[in-house]
Amino acid sequence: MPTNVASSGIFLDGDWVDPQGEMLQVQDPSTGDVFAEIANGTPAEIDAAVAAARRAADGAWGRMTAVERGRILRRISDLLLENVAMLAELESRDVGKPLSQAKADAEAIARYFEFYAGATDKIHGETIPYQDGYTVYTLREPHGVTAHIIPWNYPLQIIGRSVGAALAMGNAAVLKPAEEASLSSLAFTEIACEAGLPAGALNVVTGIGESAGAALASHAGVDHISFTGSVSVGRLIQASAAENVVPVTLELGGKSPQIVFDDADLDAAMPFLLRAGIQNAGQTCSAASRILIQRTIYDEVVDRLASAYDNLRIGPAPTDPDVGPLISAQQKMLVERLVKEGEGRGNQVVTKSPLNADVPANGFYVRPTLFGNVGGLDPLAQDEIFGPVQIAMPFDTEDEAVSIANGTDFGLVAGVWTRDGARQMRLAKSIRSGQIFVNNYGAGGGVELPFGGIGKSGHGREKGFEALYGFSVLKTIAAYHG
Ligand code: NAP
Ligand code: MG
Repeated sequence: MPTNVASSGIFLDGDWVDPQGEMLQVQDPSTGDVFAEIANGTPAEIDAAVAAARRAADGAWGRMTAVERGRILRRISDLLLENVAMLAELESRDVGKPLSQAKADAEAIARYFEFYAGATDKIHGETIPYQDGYTVYTLREPHGVTAHIIPWNYPLQIIGRSVGAALAMGNAAVLKPAEEASLSSLAFTEIACEAGLPAGALNVVTGIGESAGAALASHAGVDHISFTGSVSVGRLIQASAAENVVPVTLELGGKSPQIVFDDADLDAAMPFLLRAGIQNAGQTCSAASRILIQRTIYDEVVDRLASAYDNLRIGPAPTDPDVGPLISAQQKMLVERLVKEGEGRGNQVVTKSPLNADVPANGFYVRPTLFGNVGGLDPLAQDEIFGPVQIAMPFDTEDEAVSIANGTDFGLVAGVWTRDGARQMRLAKSIRSGQIFVNNYGAGGGVELPFGGIGKSGHGREKGFEALYGFSVLKTIAAYHG
């Protein structure tokens, strides 16, 4: 494991520095044990991080050629790949994520850096035909200093898609990881440093959202904010961005549906219906928490899902169970309360997965729960739960399915299961969502695929080439030469 990871969380100008504030304890969600400490970053440290990033943006990093930036990103990718096992173990322990899922995240961040490494010199401006005597062209330039505030559920992947794309365009980044899952950000930083990322191109300040995060979001020296997290904090971030008149990308929550028609290949669909609900114990922004099922096959699908729930292995993340613990005691209490309130309103509990007797007593485990026949206006159908909870909802017609699918404030991801090609295309158009998957869900992560929401799921796009446009500004040059 990299040397400083367990003891510091302040990386400024290419060096780990002694934290000014107190240290925060880091818990292992699988056991409840404290196993590391991170710095509680102060506004002064955020100030120093932004200043270091500004020097890098105005200095050697900002002047580096696109191809050379790409080579550095490629070295980061190679080193990430060499360290997949270490990163996976660290992420699994810190987040409580089943080991094979943490490994997939570690491979994904390497793939993000590979993708963006190859893209640095492939983003071009244009020439624009204009009036006689003019030559007009555009340049894509970095914003300058970009702020990255990320959540605890997929730290490695989100660093890849946001910091990776920002660095590719020549921005200098300041990263504030989530207080509950900062360790992989620190390990990543050591790797980036070892790969030759120049001082100041990446600065990291761990700490609490209300202090370190708020200081970063409101800092007048930040030129662009990328935020991934909850709707409520996203609102505050957007208000800060408005104050400083800087662009902001918000990747927020979801209540994503998978819609299953009676002509679907159910054998193909079933694993996706389940996995998209319980992956990372349901703490996934694109979790398919609503399963809309045509009434003619409703009982069959719900029975098959219920038996899958009854056979889930729930346990400590390093043992690579189907479902690990939630991130914290607080998240466990929140999810259990929402389930209880759902039951209290008379919703049908189809099944709750059993917990093995040997699950550590102080870990943050909840029983995955499948609700059935949930009405469209029930809070279970409207609010993001962020735990291993799915609801089944019957529908009769295609129009009804679309109306239920579009019947929340969110629009992040949707899945459509049908063999009818015309229907696939109709639904792909009529469902309001940032991504639509036809006869699959998630496309295995899809580093290349633009991702982001509409409505309360946020705005702006990350991943793919689209992120590179977001992390850059377009300049138009009109030269009159007669
Ligand atoms: P969160 O509470 O909004 O926190 C996200 C980040 O913001 C953390 O680093 C947090 O720091 C920081 N933060 C908290 N309060 C802040 C403030 N006042 N000013 C600035 N920063 C602040 O979200 P979460 O509970 O960690 O993550 C779950 C949410 O993220 C869910 O809603 C989920 O859907 C969403 N999410 C979306 C995507 C996507 O791509 N659309 C991906 C993953 C997750 P602390 O850790 O110290 O609180
Ligand atoms: Mg943790």
